[in-house]
This record gives sequence, C-alpha cells and structure tokens, in this order.
Amino acid sequence: MNTSIRILLSVSIILSAYCSKQRIIPADIIIHNAEVYTMEKDHPWAWGVAVRKNRIQRIFYRNEPSSLKPYVGQQTRVIDLKGKFVLPGFIDGHVHFNRAGAMIADINLMKVADDQGLIREVKRVVDNLQKGEWITGGLWGAYEAWELGAANSTGNKGQRWLPRKALIDSITEHNSCLLASFDGAFFLANSQALANAGLLKKTLEGMTLDRNGYPTGLIARGSPALERIRALITPKSRERLLNENRAALKHLARCGIVEVHDIATPDQTRCFVTLEKNGELTCRIWLRPDLSQGKLLIDKGFTMGIHPESRSKSQWLRYGALKGYIDGIMGTHGALFFKPYDDQPDNYGHYRRHTSDHPRYLVANMDKMYRMIKAGYQGGFVSNVHAIGNKGVSLMLDTYERLKKELRIDLRGFRVIHAQVVRPQDFIRFQKLNVIAEVNPYHIADDMRWMEERIGSDRSKWAYAFQSLLRNNAQLSFGSDWPGTSAAEYFCHPKYLIHAAVNRTTINGKPDGGWFPEQKISVEEALKAYTINNAYAVFEEDIRGSIKEGKLADITVCDRNLLNIDPAEILDMRILLTMVDGRIVYRDL
Ligand SMILES: [Zn+2]
Repeated sequence: MNTSIRILLSVSIILSAYCSKQRIIPADIIIHNAEVYTMEKDHPWAWGVAVRKNRIQRIFYRNEPSSLKPYVGQQTRVIDLKGKFVLPGFIDGHVHFNRAGAMIADINLMKVADDQGLIREVKRVVDNLQKGEWITGGLWGAYEAWELGAANSTGNKGQRWLPRKALIDSITEHNSCLLASFDGAFFLANSQALANAGLLKKTLEGMTLDRNGYPTGLIARGSPALERIRALITPKSRERLLNENRAALKHLARCGIVEVHDIATPDQTRCFVTLEKNGELTCRIWLRPDLSQGKLLIDKGFTMGIHPESRSKSQWLRYGALKGYIDGIMGTHGALFFKPYDDQPDNYGHYRRHTSDHPRYLVANMDKMYRMIKAGYQGGFVSNVHAIGNKGVSLMLDTYERLKKELRIDLRGFRVIHAQVVRPQDFIRFQKLNVIAEVNPYHIADDMRWMEERIGSDRSKWAYAFQSLLRNNAQLSFGSDWPGTSAAEYFCHPKYLIHAAVNRTTINGKPDGGWFPEQKISVEEALKAYTINNAYAVFEEDIRGSIKEGKLADITVCDRNLLNIDPAEILDMRILLTMVDGRIVYRDL
C-alpha cells in the first residue's frame, strides 16, 4: 500500500468515527408509515421522510420504526400516515391566478342559468362587500347548452335564460352590478347601476324595456347604454384583490399544488409582492410576463429568477419566461391550421397581435416574433409561446429552430404552450429542439365533444396526442389553465388532469374506452409531467420536483396510491396534506 493511500484511509477512519459520534439534529416534521413515491429512479419507493427547516433531511426506505428515533426531538411533529400515498408536490405549469381568485371570492355565474341560482350567487358575494363596491362579470349561462361533463349538447341553445334586475334589486341596494353573459352578448345592470348612469327614468339605445316601458336591466353588447354604465365602474380595492388572492391560494393548497406558473399582469404582480412580504404565500409563483414587455423588463435590469423588488433570488416569487402567442383558440375557431376548419371551409384560424400586423390578424409577421424572442433570450429570458392549431405549432417550432441555429444555443426551458394539435411529422421536433410541450390534459374532457365536428377525425387523432409526444421523447409539462375561459371552467385539482390524460373521457366517463384511446398515457407519466418535469421546466429539477435528501420540502399526500388503483377511480382521489418549503399549508387528516 503506498503512503498516500494509507494517509487517505486513516483520515477517512478518523472522519467516520467522528461523524458517528456526532449527534443527529432532530427533524421538524417526520411523515412515516406511508407509500412514498419519490420520483427518483434509483429508489422510487420509500416509507418515511424527515423534514428539517425547508429541506428534506432524510428518507427512510424501509419500514423500520426504530430508524426514526435519532431524528425525533422534543419539538418534532411525527405524523403517522397509515399507508397513505406521498409524492413530490404538484406543480401546475399554467394558471391565470388573478382570474381564479375572482372566480372564487367574487361572482361566478358560469353554472347559473336560472332565477334562483342568480339570487343565491349575488347574495353570497354581496355579503362580503363594502357599500359602493361594484359587482361585475359573472359569465352566466356558460353551461346552459353544454352541461358540465355532458358528452352532447343539451339542445336548448335556442331558448336562453335571461335574467332581469327585479331578481337582485332588493339584495343589491348598496352595490351597483353589471353582470355579463358568458359570451358577452347580454349584460344585466341593477337599479343602482342604472340610477348612477341616469338611466332609471330615461332610456338609451341598447336597453330592454318591459311592457310598461320600464327598463328590465338587460343591456345589449356594444350599446351606448352599456358604455355609459361601464364608464362608472370603479376598480376593485386593493384589499378586495388581496382577499381574492388569499382565496385562490387557499384553494391551491387544498388541491395539493406547491407551485404555479402564472402569467404576469402588473396588478397581480403587485399583490404577489405584498403577499410575499407578509409571508402569506403558500404556493411558489413563477411569473411569465408578456413577450411584448420583454424589452421593458430587460431595460429595467430584470432577468429570469430575479425578484424585481428585493433584487434577491426568492424561491417563492420569480420572474420566469416571457409569454407569447402565435394563434387563437379552438373554442372560437381561432387556432391556426394548414387546412381550413371542416365546419367553416373558408377559415384557417388567425394569428395573434404579437405575430401579426394585419388588423384582422390574418397575415403573420414571424420575423417580428423571432426578434422579440431573440431579444428576450439575449436579455436573459426564455420564451413560452401559445400555439394551438397544427400550423401554429409548426411555425413556432420553425421559429425555435431558427433561434437554435442562429445563436447556437440549447433551447432548454423554451416551451410550446398548449401544443394542442400537432402534425405527425412535427412530434419528433420537440425532442430534437429540446423544447418542452406544455399541455393541458383537462381540455380533452371539454374539447373532445366538438373537436371532430370542427377539424375532422384525421386531425383530431393528433389532438392532445400525449402518447405520440412521449413516444417521440418530448418533455411533457402539465398545466390546468385554471380557471378557464368564458365558456368553460378548467379545474386545477390534479385529479381532473390525471384522469383526462389517463382515461381520455369526460368527467362522466364518456365515451366508453376513451377518445382516441391510443393517446392515453400512464399514471406514472402523468405524475412525472406534474412534478419533476415542471421543476425541470423552470431550471430547478436539482432542488425540487422529487423527494430526495437535500431538496426543498414540497410534498403532497393523497388518500390512495394512484399507481395501484383502477384508473376509473382517479376522480375519487383526495388531497390530505400539502407541504411547501417545509411548512404544512393544508391538512385534512
Ligand atoms: Zn391560459
């Protein structure tokens, strides 16, 4: 044995003797007696986890209660999970947080299409308002013609329910209302709003009158009466916005979600900053400012991952990627296709403002799009771009390809958002370019009902084609798009997304066997897209996204082992505990 090896050996003997004598610092929280799915290839299953401060201190792989002992101190909370299922916290790759808070704490009439429903919902909201605050929006009737979860239209498209102000006047004496139907075709103003606008006695174009010539409160889209009332609406108070935020955070915690990738509106960003300062954030936030704001942000010295106010790296609130748009959405026949829609033979879809200088968004300016993305990258931001139709997706991949070639860069972190309908030859390009396919599984449950009518089965079979993406080694990222569009509510509870990706049916289980069942993916793949892949999507798979010693303690507990149940049972799953950064933010056990 040569001298240096001998020295090394003796040093290591001394070190190990020293370490074994060193006292283990007790954990803050220990969860044990659980089926822990770590999402780590070498040790996918464990029995318990010790958490100290905001980190995973120790993982217990075997069912050995005595192994916990050294980690239990006087202050340690030890939670016996009695066989429950533990996994890395869910990361939602796509939400619209500001709207979600409003849907929970403010008026939500999407499921309302009758008198009693309207009264109930207005009453609920009024009870939480100050005198003089406005109630706006609501989007009544979104599910009138397409009941939630139904495979077919209920067929009452012709005879819509229309509200009248008499229903709500007595409960809204101190608050003005301007409610809207889901499609923006009708509005309902209460007497308070009409009086403020001087329209109780005098009428203006756009107002519906009853038999006696008095206003019913119904106001038509784009009418002078509507404009007059709209001009009076006062913005929500800061406290009201913060309360909406708190309601949304509470909901996310109940859903087991530890981080969301949001868009970034200035108002909402200010709320997040306040909540972070107050220590009220219970979910990590990765903000995606609009691509058109990239230059402004960069000029101000912001870059990815830097929290603008404190200029320190926060693990709660970060500026993430820049968000752009190439085309419209399927719901309005706006997604961009190589061939026209089957039910609108002249319509190929349209571009978005970013991509087009044409007033009706019919001609693309992909060069402009390219320049914005390139400038963003040079200033320190990757881009995440919305593309839904197969031409939108294809053009986006072309643009990324150009960027990769010209700048000779790795496109890691760049995303195609939605990637809803893809041409067969484009699937392989995600992996080749190292671009993430950020997908929204729950949309399947909603869109499948009319997808084939609009784009036929040849194109539909490549819609939400997660299995094709996976077979072509694409990196999948799951997002909910919570809380949805004006026509459909998108849930953020993971059960809806996992169910849709694994079963490909509506929430009522239709059609039997699933829609284009060859595109179903496994629960394992769905969980990956919801945890470690979304940590990777924000460049943090080394510190989050799986249960590993030293990683941040973001953990979700479910009532059943999702990998062992009949897939038909996924919708029954419940969240029992949510831990973010070592803090239990929700507990139901
Ligand atoms: Zn969205």
